[in-house]
Amino acid sequence: MFCFQCEQTAKGTGCTVGGVCGKKGNTADLQDKLTGALIGLAKTAIAGKATASSNKAMIDGLFTTVTNVSFNDETLQVLIDHVKAEAAKLGTSESYDMAQLWSADEDIRSLKSLILFGLRGMAAYAHHAYVLGKMDDAVNAFFYKGMAAIGEEKSADELLALVMELGSVNLKCMELLDAANTGTYGSPMPTQVSCDIEAGPFIVISGHDLHDLKLLLEQTKDKGINIYTHGEMLPAHGYPELHKYPHLKGNFGTAWQNQQKEFDIPAPVLFTTNCIMPVKPAYADRIFTTSVVSYPEMVHIDDNKDFTPVINKALELGGYKERHKMTGINGGDTLMTGFARDTVLSVADKVIDAVKAGDIKHFFLVGGCDGAKPGRNYYTDFVKQTPKDTIILTLACGKFRFNDLCIGQIGGLPRIMDMGQCNDAYSAIKVAIALSEAFNCSVNELPLTLVLSWYEQKAVCILLTLLSLGIKNIYIGPSLPAFMSPNILKTLVEKFALTPISTPEADLKKILG
Ligand code: SF4
Repeated sequence: MFCFQCEQTAKGTGCTVGGVCGKKGNTADLQDKLTGALIGLAKTAIAGKATASSNKAMIDGLFTTVTNVSFNDETLQVLIDHVKAEAAKLGTSESYDMAQLWSADEDIRSLKSLILFGLRGMAAYAHHAYVLGKMDDAVNAFFYKGMAAIGEEKSADELLALVMELGSVNLKCMELLDAANTGTYGSPMPTQVSCDIEAGPFIVISGHDLHDLKLLLEQTKDKGINIYTHGEMLPAHGYPELHKYPHLKGNFGTAWQNQQKEFDIPAPVLFTTNCIMPVKPAYADRIFTTSVVSYPEMVHIDDNKDFTPVINKALELGGYKERHKMTGINGGDTLMTGFARDTVLSVADKVIDAVKAGDIKHFFLVGGCDGAKPGRNYYTDFVKQTPKDTIILTLACGKFRFNDLCIGQIGGLPRIMDMGQCNDAYSAIKVAIALSEAFNCSVNELPLTLVLSWYEQKAVCILLTLLSLGIKNIYIGPSLPAFMSPNILKTLVEKFALTPISTPEADLKKILG
Protein backbone atom coordinates (compact mmCIF):
# COMPACT_ATOMS: atom_id res chain seq x y z
CA MET A 1 0.00 0.00 0.00
CA PHE A 2 0.95 3.63 -0.31
CA CYS A 3 -1.05 6.50 1.13
CA PHE A 4 0.03 9.99 2.17
CA GLN A 5 -3.22 11.87 1.91
CA CYS A 6 -3.67 12.97 5.52
CA GLU A 7 -1.72 14.91 8.09
CA GLN A 8 -0.96 11.95 10.35
CA THR A 9 0.74 9.91 7.62
CA ALA A 10 3.54 7.64 8.87
CA LYS A 11 6.89 9.37 9.49
CA GLY A 12 5.56 12.43 7.67
CA THR A 13 6.20 10.70 4.35
CA GLY A 14 3.59 7.99 3.72
CA CYS A 15 1.85 4.93 5.17
CA THR A 16 3.25 1.77 3.57
CA VAL A 17 2.51 -1.05 6.00
CA GLY A 18 -0.95 -0.19 7.30
CA GLY A 19 -2.30 3.27 7.93
CA VAL A 20 -1.82 5.28 11.09
CA CYS A 21 -5.61 5.78 10.78
CA GLY A 22 -6.09 2.01 11.09
CA LYS A 23 -6.62 1.40 7.38
CA LYS A 24 -5.26 -2.01 6.32
CA GLY A 25 -3.01 -2.55 3.30
CA ASN A 26 -5.76 -4.43 1.42
CA THR A 27 -8.21 -1.60 1.99
CA ALA A 28 -5.71 1.00 0.75
CA ASP A 29 -5.08 -1.11 -2.37
CA LEU A 30 -8.83 -1.34 -3.01
CA GLN A 31 -9.15 2.43 -2.58
CA ASP A 32 -6.43 2.80 -5.22
CA LYS A 33 -8.36 0.43 -7.51
CA LEU A 34 -11.50 2.49 -6.94
CA THR A 35 -9.60 5.69 -7.76
CA GLY A 36 -8.12 4.06 -10.88
CA ALA A 37 -11.63 3.04 -11.99
CA LEU A 38 -12.88 6.61 -11.38
CA ILE A 39 -10.07 7.96 -13.57
CA GLY A 40 -11.18 5.52 -16.29
CA LEU A 41 -14.76 6.74 -15.88
CA ALA A 42 -13.61 10.38 -16.02
CA LYS A 43 -11.70 9.90 -19.26
CA THR A 44 -14.87 8.68 -20.97
CA ALA A 45 -17.34 11.00 -19.27
CA ILE A 46 -15.27 14.07 -20.09
CA ALA A 47 -16.26 13.67 -23.75
CA GLY A 48 -19.78 14.88 -22.94
CA LYS A 49 -21.07 11.44 -22.03
CA ALA A 50 -21.67 12.01 -18.30
CA THR A 51 -25.03 10.95 -16.89
CA ALA A 52 -26.77 11.53 -13.56
CA SER A 53 -25.70 8.06 -12.40
CA SER A 54 -22.07 8.54 -13.49
CA ASN A 55 -22.02 11.86 -11.59
CA LYS A 56 -23.23 10.11 -8.46
CA ALA A 57 -20.75 7.26 -8.89
CA MET A 58 -17.90 9.80 -9.27
CA ILE A 59 -18.91 11.86 -6.24
CA ASP A 60 -19.59 8.92 -3.92
CA GLY A 61 -16.51 7.05 -5.13
CA LEU A 62 -14.27 10.00 -4.31
CA PHE A 63 -16.00 10.70 -0.98
CA THR A 64 -15.53 7.05 0.04
CA THR A 65 -11.74 7.43 -0.15
CA VAL A 66 -11.59 10.42 2.23
CA THR A 67 -9.70 9.54 5.44
CA ASN A 68 -11.80 7.81 8.14
CA VAL A 69 -14.78 7.10 5.86
CA SER A 70 -14.49 3.45 4.78
CA PHE A 71 -12.55 0.59 6.31
CA ASN A 72 -14.62 -2.07 4.57
CA ASP A 73 -13.13 -4.16 1.73
CA GLU A 74 -16.49 -5.70 0.82
CA THR A 75 -18.30 -2.43 0.23
CA LEU A 76 -15.26 -1.02 -1.57
CA GLN A 77 -15.31 -3.95 -4.00
CA VAL A 78 -19.04 -3.39 -4.62
CA LEU A 79 -18.31 0.27 -5.38
CA ILE A 80 -15.41 -0.60 -7.74
CA ASP A 81 -17.73 -2.95 -9.66
CA HIS A 82 -20.38 -0.23 -9.77
CA VAL A 83 -17.96 2.41 -11.11
CA LYS A 84 -16.69 -0.04 -13.74
CA ALA A 85 -20.28 -0.80 -14.75
CA GLU A 86 -20.95 2.96 -15.10
CA ALA A 87 -17.81 3.30 -17.24
CA ALA A 88 -18.87 0.30 -19.36
CA LYS A 89 -22.25 1.99 -19.97
CA LEU A 90 -20.29 4.93 -21.38
CA GLY A 91 -18.26 2.54 -23.54
CA THR A 92 -14.96 1.91 -21.74
CA SER A 93 -13.33 -0.66 -19.51
CA GLU A 94 -10.28 1.54 -18.97
CA SER A 95 -8.78 1.84 -15.50
CA TYR A 96 -5.68 3.72 -14.32
CA ASP A 97 -2.93 2.01 -12.34
CA MET A 98 -2.28 4.25 -9.31
CA ALA A 99 1.26 2.83 -8.99
CA GLN A 100 2.09 5.12 -11.93
CA LEU A 101 1.10 8.15 -9.86
CA TRP A 102 2.90 7.09 -6.70
CA SER A 103 6.15 6.51 -8.66
CA ALA A 104 5.91 9.64 -10.85
CA ASP A 105 8.37 12.57 -10.78
CA GLU A 106 7.92 14.13 -7.32
CA ASP A 107 6.60 17.50 -8.53
CA ILE A 108 4.10 15.90 -10.90
CA ARG A 109 3.08 13.47 -8.14
CA SER A 110 2.69 16.40 -5.77
CA LEU A 111 0.47 18.42 -8.11
CA LYS A 112 -1.64 15.43 -9.14
CA SER A 113 -2.05 14.50 -5.46
CA LEU A 114 -3.21 18.05 -4.71
CA ILE A 115 -5.81 17.62 -7.43
CA LEU A 116 -6.87 14.13 -6.32
CA PHE A 117 -7.11 14.95 -2.62
CA GLY A 118 -8.79 18.29 -3.30
CA LEU A 119 -11.38 16.50 -5.46
CA ARG A 120 -11.97 13.96 -2.70
CA GLY A 121 -12.72 16.81 -0.30
CA MET A 122 -14.94 18.61 -2.78
CA ALA A 123 -16.84 15.37 -3.43
CA ALA A 124 -17.92 15.36 0.22
CA TYR A 125 -19.49 18.80 -0.23
CA ALA A 126 -21.06 17.87 -3.57
CA HIS A 127 -22.56 14.77 -1.91
CA HIS A 128 -24.15 16.79 0.92
CA ALA A 129 -25.55 19.23 -1.62
CA TYR A 130 -27.03 16.55 -3.90
CA VAL A 131 -28.83 14.76 -1.04
CA LEU A 132 -30.63 18.09 -0.57
CA GLY A 133 -31.41 18.26 -4.30
CA LYS A 134 -28.65 20.69 -5.39
CA MET A 135 -26.26 19.87 -8.23
CA ASP A 136 -24.16 22.10 -10.44
CA ASP A 137 -23.04 21.20 -13.96
CA ALA A 138 -19.74 23.09 -13.70
CA VAL A 139 -18.87 21.34 -10.44
CA ASN A 140 -19.79 17.92 -11.86
CA ALA A 141 -17.80 18.57 -15.03
CA PHE A 142 -14.69 19.52 -13.06
CA PHE A 143 -14.65 16.17 -11.24
CA TYR A 144 -14.15 14.51 -14.63
CA LYS A 145 -11.68 17.11 -15.87
CA GLY A 146 -9.53 16.86 -12.75
CA MET A 147 -9.64 13.08 -12.50
CA ALA A 148 -8.92 12.61 -16.20
CA ALA A 149 -5.85 14.88 -15.84
CA ILE A 150 -4.40 12.57 -13.20
CA GLY A 151 -4.30 9.79 -15.77
CA GLU A 152 -2.77 11.94 -18.50
CA GLU A 153 0.65 13.39 -19.33
CA LYS A 154 0.59 17.00 -18.12
CA SER A 155 3.27 19.57 -17.46
CA ALA A 156 3.75 21.08 -14.01
CA ASP A 157 2.39 24.41 -15.29
CA GLU A 158 -0.74 22.78 -16.67
CA LEU A 159 -1.30 20.93 -13.40
CA LEU A 160 -0.72 24.07 -11.31
CA ALA A 161 -3.37 25.85 -13.37
CA LEU A 162 -5.75 22.96 -12.67
CA VAL A 163 -4.96 23.14 -8.95
CA MET A 164 -6.04 26.80 -8.93
CA GLU A 165 -9.11 26.03 -11.03
CA LEU A 166 -10.05 23.37 -8.49
CA GLY A 167 -9.90 26.02 -5.77
CA SER A 168 -12.35 28.23 -7.71
CA VAL A 169 -14.70 25.35 -8.49
CA ASN A 170 -14.69 24.32 -4.83
CA LEU A 171 -15.88 27.83 -3.91
CA LYS A 172 -18.84 27.24 -6.21
CA CYS A 173 -19.39 23.83 -4.62
CA MET A 174 -19.34 25.29 -1.08
CA GLU A 175 -21.74 28.00 -2.25
CA LEU A 176 -24.03 25.27 -3.58
CA LEU A 177 -23.95 23.47 -0.24
CA ASP A 178 -24.49 26.70 1.67
CA ALA A 179 -27.59 27.35 -0.47
CA ALA A 180 -28.76 23.76 0.09
CA ASN A 181 -28.29 23.96 3.87
CA THR A 182 -29.70 27.44 4.44
CA GLY A 183 -32.47 26.90 1.86
CA THR A 184 -33.60 23.74 3.64
CA TYR A 185 -32.93 24.52 7.30
CA GLY A 186 -32.80 28.34 7.45
CA SER A 187 -29.92 30.67 8.29
CA PRO A 188 -28.03 29.60 11.41
CA MET A 189 -28.69 31.63 14.56
CA PRO A 190 -26.38 31.95 17.58
CA THR A 191 -27.26 29.02 19.82
CA GLN A 192 -25.97 27.80 23.15
CA VAL A 193 -25.49 24.04 23.29
CA SER A 194 -25.31 21.99 26.47
CA CYS A 195 -22.57 19.38 27.00
CA ASP A 196 -24.69 17.42 29.52
CA ILE A 197 -26.66 14.28 28.71
CA GLU A 198 -30.20 14.03 30.09
CA ALA A 199 -31.49 10.85 31.74
CA GLY A 200 -33.12 8.30 29.45
CA PRO A 201 -32.53 6.79 25.99
CA PHE A 202 -30.44 8.78 23.55
CA ILE A 203 -28.68 8.58 20.19
CA VAL A 204 -25.40 10.26 19.26
CA ILE A 205 -25.11 11.34 15.63
CA SER A 206 -21.67 12.08 14.21
CA GLY A 207 -20.40 13.44 10.89
CA HIS A 208 -21.58 16.27 8.66
CA ASP A 209 -24.85 15.14 7.07
CA LEU A 210 -27.66 17.46 8.18
CA HIS A 211 -30.15 15.54 6.02
CA ASP A 212 -29.51 12.34 8.00
CA LEU A 213 -29.93 14.29 11.24
CA LYS A 214 -33.25 15.72 10.05
CA LEU A 215 -34.54 12.24 9.13
CA LEU A 216 -33.41 10.84 12.47
CA LEU A 217 -35.12 13.70 14.34
CA GLU A 218 -38.35 12.97 12.46
CA GLN A 219 -38.16 9.24 13.13
CA THR A 220 -37.49 9.72 16.87
CA LYS A 221 -40.22 12.32 17.41
CA ASP A 222 -42.38 11.49 20.47
CA LYS A 223 -40.43 8.30 21.18
CA GLY A 224 -38.80 9.52 24.40
CA ILE A 225 -35.34 9.43 22.79
CA ASN A 226 -33.01 12.42 22.88
CA ILE A 227 -30.55 13.21 20.09
CA TYR A 228 -27.04 14.56 20.67
CA THR A 229 -24.65 15.83 18.02
CA HIS A 230 -21.01 14.80 17.95
CA GLY A 231 -18.00 16.44 16.29
CA GLU A 232 -18.80 18.27 13.06
CA MET A 233 -22.56 17.84 13.63
CA LEU A 234 -22.44 20.48 16.42
CA PRO A 235 -23.34 23.45 14.12
CA ALA A 236 -26.66 21.73 13.29
CA HIS A 237 -28.05 23.26 16.51
CA GLY A 238 -27.92 26.73 14.92
CA TYR A 239 -30.26 25.89 11.99
CA PRO A 240 -33.87 26.88 12.87
CA GLU A 241 -35.42 23.90 11.08
CA LEU A 242 -33.28 21.49 13.12
CA HIS A 243 -33.20 23.49 16.35
CA LYS A 244 -37.00 23.40 16.50
CA TYR A 245 -37.00 19.72 17.54
CA PRO A 246 -37.13 19.73 21.35
CA HIS A 247 -35.41 16.34 21.54
CA LEU A 248 -32.28 17.71 19.81
CA LYS A 249 -30.80 18.23 23.25
CA GLY A 250 -27.12 18.98 23.11
CA ASN A 251 -23.67 17.88 22.03
CA PHE A 252 -21.95 14.71 23.17
CA GLY A 253 -18.22 14.47 23.76
CA THR A 254 -15.24 16.35 22.49
CA ALA A 255 -13.23 16.10 19.28
CA TRP A 256 -13.56 13.12 16.93
CA GLN A 257 -10.13 11.71 17.76
CA ASN A 258 -11.25 11.11 21.37
CA GLN A 259 -14.09 8.76 20.34
CA GLN A 260 -12.30 5.55 21.34
CA LYS A 261 -12.12 6.91 24.91
CA GLU A 262 -15.62 8.42 24.94
CA PHE A 263 -17.94 5.97 23.15
CA ASP A 264 -18.39 3.31 25.84
CA ILE A 265 -21.81 4.78 26.62
CA PRO A 266 -25.37 3.43 27.11
CA ALA A 267 -26.45 4.64 23.67
CA PRO A 268 -25.92 3.99 19.95
CA VAL A 269 -23.73 6.19 17.74
CA LEU A 270 -24.62 6.82 14.10
CA PHE A 271 -21.81 7.85 11.72
CA THR A 272 -23.07 9.80 8.71
CA THR A 273 -19.64 10.74 7.28
CA ASN A 274 -16.02 10.79 8.43
CA CYS A 275 -14.53 10.57 11.01
CA ILE A 276 -14.96 6.96 12.16
CA MET A 277 -11.94 5.41 13.89
CA PRO A 278 -11.20 1.69 14.31
CA VAL A 279 -14.07 0.45 16.47
CA LYS A 280 -13.14 -0.89 19.94
CA PRO A 281 -14.86 -4.10 21.16
CA ALA A 282 -16.11 -2.18 24.24
CA TYR A 283 -18.68 -0.33 22.12
CA ALA A 284 -18.79 -2.27 18.82
CA ASP A 285 -22.39 -3.41 19.43
CA ARG A 286 -23.68 0.16 19.26
CA ILE A 287 -21.96 1.64 16.21
CA PHE A 288 -24.10 2.21 13.11
CA THR A 289 -23.04 3.61 9.75
CA THR A 290 -24.92 5.13 6.84
CA SER A 291 -24.24 6.68 3.43
CA VAL A 292 -20.60 6.23 2.28
CA VAL A 293 -19.33 5.33 5.76
CA SER A 294 -18.58 1.65 6.16
CA TYR A 295 -16.85 -0.48 8.77
CA PRO A 296 -16.72 -4.30 8.79
CA GLU A 297 -19.46 -5.96 10.86
CA MET A 298 -21.17 -2.71 11.90
CA VAL A 299 -24.89 -2.39 11.03
CA HIS A 300 -25.28 -0.18 7.96
CA ILE A 301 -28.41 1.88 7.37
CA ASP A 302 -28.99 1.85 3.62
CA ASP A 303 -30.36 4.56 1.34
CA ASN A 304 -33.96 4.03 2.44
CA LYS A 305 -32.82 5.67 5.74
CA ASP A 306 -34.91 3.54 8.05
CA PHE A 307 -33.18 4.18 11.38
CA THR A 308 -35.26 1.57 13.28
CA PRO A 309 -32.19 -0.52 14.28
CA VAL A 310 -30.57 2.59 15.83
CA ILE A 311 -33.81 3.56 17.58
CA ASN A 312 -34.31 0.03 18.96
CA LYS A 313 -30.73 -0.01 20.22
CA ALA A 314 -31.28 3.33 22.02
CA LEU A 315 -34.40 1.94 23.71
CA GLU A 316 -32.63 -1.31 24.61
CA LEU A 317 -29.61 0.46 26.16
CA GLY A 318 -31.81 3.00 27.96
CA GLY A 319 -29.25 5.78 28.40
CA TYR A 320 -28.15 7.19 31.74
CA LYS A 321 -30.33 6.82 34.85
CA GLU A 322 -29.84 10.47 35.73
CA ARG A 323 -28.45 13.62 34.11
CA HIS A 324 -24.83 12.95 33.12
CA LYS A 325 -22.48 15.89 33.50
CA MET A 326 -19.96 16.40 30.70
CA THR A 327 -17.65 19.24 29.68
CA GLY A 328 -15.49 20.38 26.80
CA ILE A 329 -11.75 19.78 26.94
CA ASN A 330 -11.10 22.95 28.95
CA GLY A 331 -13.86 22.25 31.47
CA GLY A 332 -16.58 24.48 29.96
CA ASP A 333 -20.10 23.01 30.11
CA THR A 334 -21.71 24.80 27.15
CA LEU A 335 -20.69 25.53 23.57
CA MET A 336 -21.85 28.36 21.30
CA THR A 337 -22.45 27.88 17.57
CA GLY A 338 -24.47 29.47 14.75
CA PHE A 339 -22.39 32.56 13.88
CA ALA A 340 -22.72 32.07 10.14
CA ARG A 341 -22.48 34.86 7.56
CA ASP A 342 -25.99 36.28 8.00
CA THR A 343 -25.56 36.67 11.76
CA VAL A 344 -22.11 38.22 11.52
CA LEU A 345 -23.10 40.51 8.65
CA SER A 346 -26.25 41.59 10.49
CA VAL A 347 -23.95 43.27 13.03
CA ALA A 348 -21.45 44.45 10.40
CA ASP A 349 -22.03 48.13 11.31
CA LYS A 350 -21.23 47.40 14.93
CA VAL A 351 -18.10 45.46 13.93
CA ILE A 352 -16.92 48.21 11.57
CA ASP A 353 -17.48 50.88 14.24
CA ALA A 354 -15.60 48.78 16.79
CA VAL A 355 -12.66 48.44 14.38
CA LYS A 356 -12.68 52.19 13.64
CA ALA A 357 -12.83 53.02 17.36
CA GLY A 358 -9.90 50.67 18.00
CA ASP A 359 -11.97 48.31 20.18
CA ILE A 360 -11.29 45.47 17.74
CA LYS A 361 -7.65 45.41 16.63
CA HIS A 362 -7.51 42.15 14.73
CA PHE A 363 -9.57 39.18 13.51
CA PHE A 364 -8.25 35.65 13.48
CA LEU A 365 -9.85 32.78 11.62
CA VAL A 366 -8.62 29.81 13.64
CA GLY A 367 -10.19 26.90 11.85
CA GLY A 368 -9.75 23.54 10.22
CA CYS A 369 -9.71 19.92 11.21
CA ASP A 370 -8.53 18.40 14.44
CA GLY A 371 -6.33 15.34 14.75
CA ALA A 372 -4.63 13.06 17.22
CA LYS A 373 -0.99 14.02 16.75
CA PRO A 374 0.72 15.95 19.55
CA GLY A 375 1.42 19.60 18.78
CA ARG A 376 -2.21 20.51 18.11
CA ASN A 377 -2.49 22.21 21.49
CA TYR A 378 -0.85 25.08 19.55
CA TYR A 379 -4.38 26.11 18.56
CA THR A 380 -5.68 26.13 22.17
CA ASP A 381 -2.66 28.09 23.32
CA PHE A 382 -2.91 30.46 20.38
CA VAL A 383 -6.54 31.33 21.19
CA LYS A 384 -5.78 31.67 24.90
CA GLN A 385 -2.94 34.09 24.12
CA THR A 386 -4.81 36.33 21.68
CA PRO A 387 -5.17 39.85 23.08
CA LYS A 388 -8.54 40.89 24.51
CA ASP A 389 -9.18 43.32 21.65
CA THR A 390 -9.21 40.57 19.02
CA ILE A 391 -12.00 38.39 17.65
CA ILE A 392 -11.66 34.68 16.86
CA LEU A 393 -13.79 33.32 14.04
CA THR A 394 -13.72 29.56 13.86
CA LEU A 395 -15.11 26.64 11.88
CA ALA A 396 -14.70 22.86 11.44
CA CYS A 397 -13.71 20.45 14.19
CA GLY A 398 -10.41 22.04 15.22
CA LYS A 399 -12.51 24.36 17.40
CA PHE A 400 -13.11 21.59 19.94
CA ARG A 401 -9.64 22.55 21.23
CA PHE A 402 -11.02 25.88 22.50
CA ASN A 403 -14.77 26.25 21.92
CA ASP A 404 -15.64 25.75 25.59
CA LEU A 405 -13.33 28.59 26.69
CA CYS A 406 -14.83 31.79 28.05
CA ILE A 407 -12.56 34.55 26.75
CA GLY A 408 -15.02 37.41 26.99
CA GLN A 409 -16.88 39.75 24.65
CA ILE A 410 -16.28 42.95 22.72
CA GLY A 411 -19.24 45.32 22.54
CA GLY A 412 -21.70 42.49 23.20
CA LEU A 413 -20.08 40.19 20.61
CA PRO A 414 -18.48 37.01 21.91
CA ARG A 415 -14.76 36.91 21.18
CA ILE A 416 -15.07 33.34 19.83
CA MET A 417 -17.65 32.94 17.05
CA ASP A 418 -18.25 29.48 15.60
CA MET A 419 -19.25 29.82 11.95
CA GLY A 420 -20.03 26.12 11.46
CA GLN A 421 -18.66 23.07 9.69
CA CYS A 422 -15.58 23.03 7.45
CA ASN A 423 -17.68 23.84 4.35
CA ASP A 424 -18.83 27.00 6.15
CA ALA A 425 -15.45 28.39 5.16
CA TYR A 426 -17.79 29.79 2.51
CA SER A 427 -19.44 31.90 5.22
CA ALA A 428 -16.05 33.12 6.44
CA ILE A 429 -15.07 34.07 2.89
CA LYS A 430 -18.31 36.03 2.45
CA VAL A 431 -17.69 37.90 5.72
CA ALA A 432 -14.07 38.68 4.76
CA ILE A 433 -15.16 39.99 1.35
CA ALA A 434 -17.92 42.12 2.93
CA LEU A 435 -15.44 43.61 5.42
CA SER A 436 -12.94 44.34 2.67
CA GLU A 437 -15.67 46.17 0.73
CA ALA A 438 -16.70 48.12 3.84
CA PHE A 439 -13.11 49.20 4.46
CA ASN A 440 -12.45 49.72 0.78
CA CYS A 441 -9.40 47.48 0.75
CA SER A 442 -8.44 43.98 -0.36
CA VAL A 443 -8.96 40.96 1.92
CA ASN A 444 -5.17 40.78 2.31
CA GLU A 445 -5.15 44.34 3.68
CA LEU A 446 -7.74 43.61 6.38
CA PRO A 447 -6.60 43.16 9.99
CA LEU A 448 -7.36 39.47 9.50
CA THR A 449 -5.10 36.42 9.74
CA LEU A 450 -6.04 32.84 8.88
CA VAL A 451 -4.50 30.25 11.18
CA LEU A 452 -5.49 26.86 9.82
CA SER A 453 -5.16 23.30 11.04
CA TRP A 454 -5.47 20.51 8.51
CA TYR A 455 -6.00 16.77 8.79
CA GLU A 456 -7.90 15.35 5.84
CA GLN A 457 -8.81 16.16 2.25
CA LYS A 458 -11.62 18.66 2.78
CA ALA A 459 -9.01 20.98 4.27
CA VAL A 460 -7.03 20.58 1.04
CA CYS A 461 -9.86 21.84 -1.19
CA ILE A 462 -10.59 24.72 1.22
CA LEU A 463 -6.93 25.77 1.20
CA LEU A 464 -6.96 25.71 -2.60
CA THR A 465 -10.09 27.90 -2.60
CA LEU A 466 -8.39 30.45 -0.36
CA LEU A 467 -5.30 30.45 -2.58
CA SER A 468 -7.42 30.76 -5.72
CA LEU A 469 -8.94 33.90 -4.18
CA GLY A 470 -5.43 35.30 -3.78
CA ILE A 471 -5.53 35.19 0.02
CA LYS A 472 -2.00 35.42 1.39
CA ASN A 473 -0.10 34.94 4.64
CA ILE A 474 -2.10 31.89 5.76
CA TYR A 475 -0.55 30.09 8.72
CA ILE A 476 -0.86 26.32 8.39
CA GLY A 477 -0.12 23.42 10.73
CA PRO A 478 0.49 21.34 12.65
CA SER A 479 2.75 20.03 9.87
CA LEU A 480 2.92 20.54 6.14
CA PRO A 481 1.37 17.97 3.77
CA ALA A 482 3.72 15.10 2.91
CA PHE A 483 2.43 15.26 -0.66
CA MET A 484 3.81 18.74 -1.23
CA SER A 485 7.24 18.37 -2.83
CA PRO A 486 9.91 20.94 -1.89
CA ASN A 487 9.53 22.67 -5.28
CA ILE A 488 5.73 22.89 -5.10
CA LEU A 489 5.90 24.10 -1.51
CA LYS A 490 8.46 26.74 -2.53
CA THR A 491 6.13 27.91 -5.32
CA LEU A 492 3.19 28.25 -2.91
CA VAL A 493 5.31 29.99 -0.27
CA GLU A 494 6.69 32.47 -2.80
CA LYS A 495 3.35 33.17 -4.44
CA PHE A 496 1.06 33.15 -1.39
CA ALA A 497 3.38 33.51 1.61
CA LEU A 498 1.95 30.26 3.00
CA THR A 499 3.59 30.01 6.43
CA PRO A 500 4.07 26.94 8.65
CA ILE A 501 3.01 27.59 12.26
CA SER A 502 5.81 27.92 14.83
CA THR A 503 4.83 28.78 18.41
CA PRO A 504 1.75 30.81 19.44
CA GLU A 505 4.02 33.43 21.02
CA ALA A 506 6.23 33.86 17.97
CA ASP A 507 3.36 33.78 15.49
CA LEU A 508 1.26 36.28 17.43
CA LYS A 509 4.24 38.59 17.69
CA LYS A 510 4.84 38.33 13.95
CA ILE A 511 1.17 38.91 13.11
CA LEU A 512 0.44 41.72 15.53
CA GLY A 513 3.89 43.33 15.43
S1 SF4 B 1 -5.43 8.20 5.41
FE1 SF4 B 1 -3.64 9.06 6.49
S2 SF4 B 1 -3.16 7.63 8.16
FE2 SF4 B 1 -4.60 6.59 6.77
S3 SF4 B 1 -3.29 5.41 5.42
FE3 SF4 B 1 -3.63 7.39 4.41
S4 SF4 B 1 -1.97 8.75 5.06
FE4 SF4 B 1 -1.98 6.96 6.43
